[in-house]
Amino acid sequence: MQTKILLPEAQMPTHWYNVVADMPTPPDPYLGPDGRPVPPEAMAAIFPMSLIEQEVSAERWVAIPEEVREALRLWRPSPLYRAHRLEAALNTPAKIYYKNEAVSPAGSHKPNTAVAQAWFNKQAGIKRLTTETGAGQWGCSLALAGQMFGLEVRVYMVKVSYEQKPYRRSLMQTWGAEVFPSPTEMTGAGRQILAAHADSPGSLGIAISEAVEEAAGREDTNYALGSVLNHVLLHQTIIGEEAKKQLALVGDYPDMVFAPCGGGSNFGGIAFPFFADKAAGKQVRLVAVEPSSCPTLTRGVYAYDWGDAVGLTPLMHMYTLGHDFMPPGIHAGGLRYHGDSALVSKLYNEGLIEAMAVPQLETFEAGVLFARSEGILPAPESCHAIAATVREAQECARTGEPKTLLFNLSGHGHFDMTSYDRYLSGELENFEYPEAAIKESLQHLPKVG
Ligand SMILES: *Cc1c(COP(=O)(O)O)cnc(C)c1O
Repeated sequence: MQTKILLPEAQMPTHWYNVVADMPTPPDPYLGPDGRPVPPEAMAAIFPMSLIEQEVSAERWVAIPEEVREALRLWRPSPLYRAHRLEAALNTPAKIYYKNEAVSPAGSHKPNTAVAQAWFNKQAGIKRLTTETGAGQWGCSLALAGQMFGLEVRVYMVKVSYEQKPYRRSLMQTWGAEVFPSPTEMTGAGRQILAAHADSPGSLGIAISEAVEEAAGREDTNYALGSVLNHVLLHQTIIGEEAKKQLALVGDYPDMVFAPCGGGSNFGGIAFPFFADKAAGKQVRLVAVEPSSCPTLTRGVYAYDWGDAVGLTPLMHMYTLGHDFMPPGIHAGGLRYHGDSALVSKLYNEGLIEAMAVPQLETFEAGVLFARSEGILPAPESCHAIAATVREAQECARTGEPKTLLFNLSGHGHFDMTSYDRYLSGELENFEYPEAAIKESLQHLPKVG
């Protein structure tokens, strides 16, 4: 009984897969404040041209530069596991596989795009990168990548996480980054928010505003985003490409693929390469799993909205809960974004992928079951995919159907022990976002068209 399915380094993918090539209709353009499509050059104040080209590309394959491949080889190819012990614990006829992205130095999938973004910025002569971070996963990943390629990194960290997760901050600082609790007094956006809410706990949208504002104001500085954008999802497709090769080694193919979905990058990363097969006629269900407290796909609307809190970014056509949506302080910090990737949103709107929302307690219950059977302690974000997989595996136990299930273990939870403490001591609660609060945020959507 094989447990770890390993790919030799020599078989690590050489190209990223661009799902746009297989989408039935092209993605909608980003819009400016005037409601007109933003020309790609307009993004050049904060991104290098190479990444802007990837953002708007429709080419099926994009080559991974050799230096990026060399950096990725520190942890890739990541192992694919057959979850024999979880299957036994569930007494299910389902076959469960998971891709372990926790093996990267930062402990999640995010370095896959961080090293690529740092390298392309370095090539463009950029010296500094700014970014935001919620739970700290992305800030750590970019700090690591900046260190690898000799770029300074400044991180605006959502204040509530800065206070709840001091060790993530230490890790960023160990990798050489500067970290500030957002909102700060250092940017116009931060000052604007603080003037209205002096005790604002911060949000990803606010921190994005701060990081973008600083990058737009300095020649030597660009901005890097850890999710949502097309080029970020592109860089993550190495996950699904590897998984396909690994499953082929054991002669298997998934009926369903699950991933937690915040901005959509690890979901797109594992699911899109399977979408290529689906577009070619193969049966495979791709399921994005979100928290019921931040139910962007399942309860948001498909509309143009800003990517940040104060309207500095272009408008993106996506599922959104409203750019001023204030998510509750749930423990899956990486899943608290108000919007979602435009690519994921479009595929969902066209019924080509699926989404489901899971309450917090069920996710931790699944995470603890996973830790007790497979050993690895999952990130609270990853617990969403585990919970969805467990539900399906239990359904298989009822029906006797031996489905093949694959999920993305997007990261480990070693920095999230406060959350586990609270769950284990019975302090955690479920939180359904009230319909009235969602309606309120949605009233503030920008008017376009
Ligand atoms: C950031 C993060 C997520 C959510 O982000 P996506 O862009 O939706 O992938 C999920 N899992 C982990 C471990 C993360 O760090």
